[in-house]
Amino acid sequence: MNVMVKEHLVPAKGRRPLIVMKFGGTSVGNTECMERVAGIICEHAKRADLVVVVSAMGGVTDMLIRAATEASHGDRQHWRGVRQELARRHREVNDRLLSASEQAKVLPRLAEQVSNFENLCSGFSMVREVTPRAMDTLSSLGEVMSATLMAAILRSSGVAAEAVDATELVVTDDHFGNAAPLLDETHAKAGQRLAPVRRRGAVPIVTGFRGATRDGVCTTLGRGGSDYSGTILGAVLDADEIWIWTDVDGVMTADPRLVPGACILPEISYREAIELSFFGAKVLHPKTILPVMKKKIPVWIKNSFNPSCPGTKIGPATGDGPPGVKAITSVSKASLVTISGRDTMSFASLAAKVFELLDLEQVATLMSTQSSADNVLCFAVHDADVKRVKATLERAFELEILHDYMPPPEIMPHVAIVVVIGEKMKGTPGLAGRTFAALGRSSINIIAIAQGSAELSISFAVKSSDVKEAVTAIHGEFQL
Ligand code: ADP
Ligand code: ASP
Ligand code: MG
Repeated sequence: MNVMVKEHLVPAKGRRPLIVMKFGGTSVGNTECMERVAGIICEHAKRADLVVVVSAMGGVTDMLIRAATEASHGDRQHWRGVRQELARRHREVNDRLLSASEQAKVLPRLAEQVSNFENLCSGFSMVREVTPRAMDTLSSLGEVMSATLMAAILRSSGVAAEAVDATELVVTDDHFGNAAPLLDETHAKAGQRLAPVRRRGAVPIVTGFRGATRDGVCTTLGRGGSDYSGTILGAVLDADEIWIWTDVDGVMTADPRLVPGACILPEISYREAIELSFFGAKVLHPKTILPVMKKKIPVWIKNSFNPSCPGTKIGPATGDGPPGVKAITSVSKASLVTISGRDTMSFASLAAKVFELLDLEQVATLMSTQSSADNVLCFAVHDADVKRVKATLERAFELEILHDYMPPPEIMPHVAIVVVIGEKMKGTPGLAGRTFAALGRSSINIIAIAQGSAELSISFAVKSSDVKEAVTAIHGEFQL
């Protein structure tokens, strides 16, 4: 388990630094990956106190959610197949990486999780329903299995480690499927639960993605939420740094799946990272940065497949670096909603009512534009939310629409939102011109445009089918 890890020095503070390390699904995707990650943990545990957060093995969460959904549609076969696969993938890690005594301890725990999966799916297929609350318990079972295994792999190679269920650490509200952490309560609970583990000199291996309400009911932090688990724990434990290990060398100038020539950014600011993740850069869960910003805890993005690469540092803005565009991101599955108050309602009251409804429905708005003269408000939402938005608006404005005081909301599907980001775009003239000229040269039609006065980003909507070309054209224009 020898891994080449280039020394990344955490500033000395007269004590061992505390680093929260999160490993994503691809980093723990199979037996070889698990072994590599255990090597990274062993190496760093020599110099720092670690709290480790793990995701489910790659693909497991998707598999669990699909099984629950099929079961709730009455399919009694599908989840039986998933049960085999779930058992097989985790069993293989157990058989290949654990000592005999660890296997004896871990096998019954894995069997217990598989049987939890089976009982839940059997229940869903019987009642033909899966509630968000039950889905959270089921969809985060993968994290319980991977944390159990990772702790046992480490113990098998002589490193003290204990698996800890985040339902015992992270306290959240009861917004199942997308819960928000209650940081003060998490601070108290996590400190208390982890102190004896750390005193024993063991590395806590915490399940990512899940938390629990005050009453102890399991919740999840939204898809991709283990990044968020990492920074929540980093913030409440006052970590010196947070390292998010993934499958790319760091945050890149664009999604490498869209732009093969995208480059690694050595450093970005918290605000740039927030913009990137909010607008679809999958490398970070959209809320990852929020818990650590005030405390100014640095977050590093590193590649578990290439640990000697330093990665990207996310921290407070430094003011260094050239002015201009830093990165481009996009949300490719979005819809534009247009609603008009005609002359029955002022623009302000139309906008106030619409945004209040979006807030109540917890719908994220990707961009919005107004045309005050016509009282027309246009905004973009994720495709996943558009049906709900349309129904909510139609209900709220039912009478106005019925009496023809205003038209029903119009939906334009198959739209992508492209966002050009850079903390130092502010005050640099000509960037919007160059962006749109590059799109013009590629004959890409722009459907809507928005730029805030903070000048941190320029957003615009194009047809979904144009997104790759749009991002590539702008990436080329600014020679990122
Ligand atoms: P993990 O399993 O480690 O959580 P994810 O798949 O959630 O990993 O996120 C990493 C992926 O994010 C990368 O493989 C990459 O394809 C994608 N990605 C999208 N935009 C960016 C970007 N700007 N920089 C780096 N990676 C990005
Ligand atoms: N396993 C969860 C998911 O796939 C959380 C994560 O990987 O961050 O969404
Ligand atoms: Mg992720």
